[in-house]
Amino acid sequence: MAQQIADRRDVDFVLHEVLQVEHLSKHEKFAEFNKKTVDLIISEARNLAIKEILPTREIGDREGAQFDQGKVTLPESFHRAYDLFKEGEWLAMIENPDWGGQGMPRSIALAANDYLVGANLAFMMYPGLTHGAGKLVDTFGTDKQKKLYLKKMFTGEWTGTMLLTEPEAGSDVGALTTSAVKNDDGTYSITGNKIFISSGEHDLAENIIHPVLARIEGAPEGTKGISLFLVPKIWVNDDGSLGEPNDVVCTGIEEKMGIHGNSTASLALGGKGKCKGTLLGEENKGMREMFIMMNEARLLVGLQGFCCASASYMHAVNYAKERVQGKNLEKMMDEGVSSVPIIQHPDVRRQLMSMKVNVEAMRSLIYYIGMCEDQITISDSEEEKEKYKGIIDVLIPVAKGYVTDRAFDVCSHGVQIYGGYGYIKEYPAEQLLRDCRITMIYEGTNGIQAMDLLGRKLGLNNGKPIMDLLGEMQHTIA
Ligand SMILES: Cc1cc2nc3c(=O)[nH]c(=O)nc-3n(C[C@H](O)[C@H](O)[C@H](O)COP(=O)(O)OP(=O)(O)OC[C@H]3O[C@@H](n4cnc5c(N)ncnc54)[C@H](O)[C@@H]3O)c2cc1C
Repeated sequence: MAQQIADRRDVDFVLHEVLQVEHLSKHEKFAEFNKKTVDLIISEARNLAIKEILPTREIGDREGAQFDQGKVTLPESFHRAYDLFKEGEWLAMIENPDWGGQGMPRSIALAANDYLVGANLAFMMYPGLTHGAGKLVDTFGTDKQKKLYLKKMFTGEWTGTMLLTEPEAGSDVGALTTSAVKNDDGTYSITGNKIFISSGEHDLAENIIHPVLARIEGAPEGTKGISLFLVPKIWVNDDGSLGEPNDVVCTGIEEKMGIHGNSTASLALGGKGKCKGTLLGEENKGMREMFIMMNEARLLVGLQGFCCASASYMHAVNYAKERVQGKNLEKMMDEGVSSVPIIQHPDVRRQLMSMKVNVEAMRSLIYYIGMCEDQITISDSEEEKEKYKGIIDVLIPVAKGYVTDRAFDVCSHGVQIYGGYGYIKEYPAEQLLRDCRITMIYEGTNGIQAMDLLGRKLGLNNGKPIMDLLGEMQHTIA
């Protein structure tokens, strides 16, 4: 059977031959993850992706998320896929098993996500954002917040979002105007309008937990005065039961170029003066806290772009082997010669090679960042931890900005290889191109990534991280 979504040989090559992930199992923390287990995890992810999630991709694009009077419904097929995804405990692969995670190395989880995200990016944004939001609770939450929210989020029973953007505050998050006023019981009343909120409203889960950036009354202007709050769609009582709806109203969803299966919601918070939230972390430290999570979110967006590119390449190469058109260049003057599959044409091969090279490079880069995280987890040396942390800091804008720029180019070649059919909705190439396009925009546009790389990351710590990265490259070459 033709390979779909990702080439298993390439996934295994990066995991086992380039990164040699088995070495992680020598450390107590990852002792369970020997080669056999790793291979099983990837096979299971691949099965779920191909059999259950991939069939939702085109339906999700065609039907999209539907808005009606404050409620959003998703295509029926998303529900079955989400239930199976939850049952398989795929949402928080790298997290602590006590909270519903699997304690898996990051590099292996990224390889599993290679298939899952490649099967349907729009669908996978629901669990992806939930993981990110849960991670905020895990990192900055009080014991009470963790107890109330974390397991429900990491098991996918409740989903999560990220509420940063407002009409006048996009790239410049510091311009936001959503306000927070402290109440006598320690909660905060939140008022404001957030736009473009991915997974902001839907019917996959009974509750949605929104981490919200807002400014406490009297706080400084700009990013220094921003705090982070946890605002559930339905209030969660102290005993964990669900209380009243929390005055978070979805006023509409966007009609978009791609990712139609993911709802991009406008949310009005506190329109009736009754939206409550609890502070997550410290007052006025919201931007710093969000930035700590930004690496995670930006890596995920890089992965999203790469997965579209990988899927586009697999479709293109399979199609090029089957589509018969034109004569072989070397025999085209011969009498009575048959037409050949287009993969024999040099220009098609050139494009396929360019796609393949880019996809393999993206995969290596993204898994490598995962491995750097794993090195931080297993290392006993503070110096080594700092080194890998620095390398990750430098590589994140590359994984987000450069990878998604290239991914879009790859998807464009994918359309080209299908010829006219590439432009037709019946074939997958055009959807992958449209879905991929957003990855260059959200989570900090690629222009902002370039500024981050040049303005902040290259000079970080007097250039030590970039020198460490070059050192790692030299080591590989030698
Ligand atoms: C489908 C979708 C899903 C989204 N999901 C979420 C979500 O879940 N949560 C959330 O909070 N937000 C979300 N967003 C918002 C997204 O992150 C913003 O759209 C993005 O950060 C850009 O902000 P903006 O649209 O206001 O563009 P602007 O900030 O107005 O930027 C316009 C252009 O100007 C450039 N630019 C802006 N400032 C500078 C500068 N200082 N220097 C150089 N160039 C600059 C940008 O690169 C861009 O090309 C989503 C958006 C979309 C479309």
